[in-house]
Amino acid sequence: MQDKIWLSSPHMGGNELQYIHEAFDANWVAPLGPNVDGFEKDLETFLGTDVKVAALSAGTAALHLALIECGVEYGDEVICQSMTFSASANPIAYQGAKPVFVDSEIDTWNMCPVALQEAIEDRISKGNKPKAIIIVHLYGMPAKMEEISAIAEKYNIPLIEDAAEALGSNYKGKACGTFGRFGVLSFNGNKIITTSGGGALVCHSESDKERTVFLSTQARDNAPHYQHSHIGYNYRMSNISAGIGRGQMEVLKDRVNARRKMHDFYVELFRNIDGVEVFTEPNGDYYSNHWLSAITVDESVVGKSREDLRMALLEDNIESRPLWKPMHMQPVFADAPYYGKNIAETLFERGLCLPSGSNLKEEDKQRILKCIENVFSK
Ligand SMILES: *Cc1c(COP(=O)(O)O)cnc(C)c1O
Repeated sequence: MQDKIWLSSPHMGGNELQYIHEAFDANWVAPLGPNVDGFEKDLETFLGTDVKVAALSAGTAALHLALIECGVEYGDEVICQSMTFSASANPIAYQGAKPVFVDSEIDTWNMCPVALQEAIEDRISKGNKPKAIIIVHLYGMPAKMEEISAIAEKYNIPLIEDAAEALGSNYKGKACGTFGRFGVLSFNGNKIITTSGGGALVCHSESDKERTVFLSTQARDNAPHYQHSHIGYNYRMSNISAGIGRGQMEVLKDRVNARRKMHDFYVELFRNIDGVEVFTEPNGDYYSNHWLSAITVDESVVGKSREDLRMALLEDNIESRPLWKPMHMQPVFADAPYYGKNIAETLFERGLCLPSGSNLKEEDKQRILKCIENVFSK
């Protein structure tokens, strides 16, 4: 059996261990320290636009704190993009709140502004004005930020941007993660850069960042003994993980370029295969990090299904994966309201993510190319 080709695997830059050694030498082996501060500064500089970043233990933790800081409580409703990974929606349930799912549109595969407006109007008419909106930049593709932001503003509902997959992406030059009231980043092992596991909350004021750090470190009041006026969480990033993050930040731009090259590779590969579309920016306003390259397969045109392709790749020990199964189709969220048509459902039926790692070698690409050409030439 040939070596496994992964969808997306960790890709170290080289200097990560140096930062970890510094942490050991100074005995900063704790959920705070110079690497945490340094990693936050690196992210703030990269994102530009005057943001404050709090490094946390996971992107999921960042989403949870964003909801808390937006005042989401038991029984509240929160709007969430249906087409996403479950971690976008689960923190709504952690708060005892109820998710309301909204369909995607076909250009960016992200939240449809028309369906969003319909959802807000309908929930308000039922006496449940949503407390927050969670949008996602799926696979690195920026959502329709202008339309979405305008609707959030019109109804005065805070926007939380799940940019877990979109570090390095931008819309009209403005970094994904910096549009909303809060932005969420993830550094899980499969993301564009990793801290082995970790996340961050992007804030727009020092006080929001302070509140995030306070909540993520057990909400200790200012007193010599342990005193608490709030429920706290243990969500801060460790100084060891942050050391990996500092090393990774040195190579982030290279990683984005490499992922975008993988996307170009697939565009070229599928250029002459009718019925297969490579997921691409709608126009020059959108700049995706192309965290994962994805395609849709129209069986009625090309004569093969998404599953035919996935199984053929699997046979050659090449990992691929159907697109996220929409949240409104998940058993655990079966009771949640849903607004929109069947865009997300169709994408789920036809879509496939292909190996996209920044560390794929030329021979890996040749294996992928041969396997795919073989499927569609039969
Ligand atoms: C990875 C991911 C998350 C969760 O981030 P973790 O760091 O793994 O907790 C949330 N939303 C989306 C869209 C993701 O892809």
